[in-house]
Order: sequence, then C-alpha cells, then structure tokens
Amino acid sequence: VSVIADTGTPSPSSSKTIFMLLRDITEARRIEAMRADFVAFASHELKTPLASLSGFIDTLRGHAKDDPEARDKFLGIMSDQATRMRHLIDDLLSLSRIELREHVRPSDAVDLFSVVNDIADGLTPLSERYEVEIGIHAPAGLPLVRGDREELGQVIQNLAENALRYGRTGKRIEISLAPDQKGGRPYVRLTVRDFGPGIAKEHIPRLTERFYRVDPAASRAKGGTGLGLAIVKHIVNRHEGTLTIESELGQGSVFSVLLPIFAAPAAAK
Ligand code: ADP
Repeated sequence: VSVIADTGTPSPSSSKTIFMLLRDITEARRIEAMRADFVAFASHELKTPLASLSGFIDTLRGHAKDDPEARDKFLGIMSDQATRMRHLIDDLLSLSRIELREHVRPSDAVDLFSVVNDIADGLTPLSERYEVEIGIHAPAGLPLVRGDREELGQVIQNLAENALRYGRTGKRIEISLAPDQKGGRPYVRLTVRDFGPGIAKEHIPRLTERFYRVDPAASRAKGGTGLGLAIVKHIVNRHEGTLTIESELGQGSVFSVLLPIFAAPAAAK
C-alpha cells in the first residue's frame, strides 16, 4: 500500500489527513502481519499432529500390520492426535465467532454462581484425576451480570482448567465471586486462584497472545492449544470487562475478571 500525497503545498488540515492516512495504513499493515502470523502458526499447529497421523498410518500398513499389540498402541496415539486437532479447530472456531461479534454487547442476565457450579461439576473427573480440590466461594444475593451465559462459561472453564492443569501441585484451586466497584460502577469480580508454581513476571503481559505458551511442551502435554487465554481476553472485552493476571513464582496465580452487573431495562438510564 502506498500513499500518494497531494503535490501542492498541504494545508494544515490536509497534512493531518495524510498523517491519519499513514497511521491507518501502519495499523492496517500491523493487523495484516498479525493475521499472516496467526495463519502460519495455526497451520503449523495443525500440521504437527497431521504428520504424526500420516506416519502412523504408514506404519500400520507396513511392519505393524500383523502385530496386534503395536497396532493398539499406535491407534491410541492416533486417537490422541485426532483429539488434539479437534481441540485446536474448536478453539479456532470459537475465536473467530467471538471476534465477529466483538462489537455487539451481550445483554442477557446471567447468574454466574450457577455457571461456576455447572463448570465445576464438569471438571470433577479432571480434579479427581489430579487429586486437586475445587473450592467455590460466593456470598448470598450476588447481583446478576450482563452477558452471554455460554461465553462466560467458557471463560470460567478455560481459567479453571488452566488452574487445575498448571497449578495441580498446589492441591487445591479456588473460584470466587464477589461484588466490586470500578469508577463508581458496580461489577462482579470472578477470581480463579491456584497454588501451583506460578508464572515468571516477564511472561504475564504476553499470556493472552494467541499461541503464546510459557512452556510449549508442557502445554501440548496437557492438551493445550495456546488459545485459551486469547479466547478469555476476547470474551471479556466483548463484555466490557477487565482481566487481570497476578502471579508469584512458587506461590501460584490469580486470574481475575471484572464483569458489569445486569441492570433491568426499566431501571436503566
Ligand atoms: P494453553 O492451551 O497452552 O494452556 P492458554 O492460552 O490457556 O494456552 O495459556 C497460555 C499459557 O499460559 C500456558 O501455556 C501456560 O504456560 C500459561 N498458564 C496459563 N494459566 C496458568 C496457570 N494457572 N499457572 C501457570 N501457568 C499458566
């Protein structure tokens, strides 16, 4: 993209126009570069399990053909790789769906406490496998939040699953809800806390970038796609909320989300 400037002497307003145009082009280029990076990353992430699947298909057709034990083992690995690809495609689709709706404010009245309980129930098998206890804390009479129940469920799911998987050495995680305030407006604060190894300071600002992982091998081993926190950030933005991450090495991590409360239309100004 190039800018063709007026050949005459620019007036102050036309130089401002050119400046804004240049700025827009810089921004457009930056977005374009990010998109290209994203496509490259996503393709790479899909190609790895695909290469493994192709390799095992060849092996099954070749020397493992008449070895039932090897066949079972390889089919198990192939099934894991297929699951990994499915998770990645699910997350890519979630991200693109949320991005498309990013400028539309969700407006349902959501009882976060019931969402937290549903998600915690679904995570019971994982918490039992890791021997991690899930504690839920919420005061009675918590206000409803304004949002999309399914998307808020995904926020809680992604944060709680990360806390369980990365923080499992802490043996317990806590999901808390509490009324809060920001700029004089009422919010509900959702906090997911773990007592695991924590995250070094330099990584914290980058955690919500797509495919950013502190330890890529550990993330893949737990079935992570590297998109969980990017999805959380987009959902929180769409809800006009804020996400804060605090962590101390050796102490654990706290992911906290402020969500605007639901005001009944009749009471809205
Ligand atoms: P992933 O699929 O890799 O878990 P996420 O976007 O959910 O992707 O998280 C990005 C990275 O942030 C993870 O790979 C991990 O390194 C780090 N992370 C997220 N949550 C925690 C946590 N509770 N404790 C320690 N590290 C975490």
